Amino acid sequence: MDLRDLYRDVILDHNRQPRNFGRLDAADAEADGHNPLCGDRLHISMRMDGDRIGDVRFEGQGCAISVASASLMTEAIRGRTRAEFEALFSAVHALLTEHDHVPGRDLGKLAALGGVREYPARVKCASLCWHTAHAALERAGAPVSTE
Ligand code: ZN
Repeated sequence: MDLRDLYRDVILDHNRQPRNFGRLDAADAEADGHNPLCGDRLHISMRMDGDRIGDVRFEGQGCAISVASASLMTEAIRGRTRAEFEALFSAVHALLTEHDHVPGRDLGKLAALGGVREYPARVKCASLCWHTAHAALERAGAPVSTE
């Protein structure tokens, strides 16, 4: 399966049946994201488990790429630490923007987002959820520890 087929199948699947769609009650971290170029709007909410993302949901309205990317992201980041999230964010950003990019790590289904490189105008659609989740984590502040 080449990247274009993978891209189309994964985007269609996650747009039709978004995973982790909704909003968490009593979230520890939340942020809104807006991509004015396309009109995509997302809300990301997370519950932290120490330094890990214990649970994550997204909701909003946008194009197929923004919705599918957010759905893929929620699956990929649940259970990750902040540092792991940032590393994944960097890897996805490189995947989306560097034309001759060779993934340095196994991105799993996120690799399908590499198909967005064919459509430079849509890079912001695909990266909106990552920027929004990053903002939510920044706002959540440092984890509290009693030890
Ligand atoms: Zn869009």
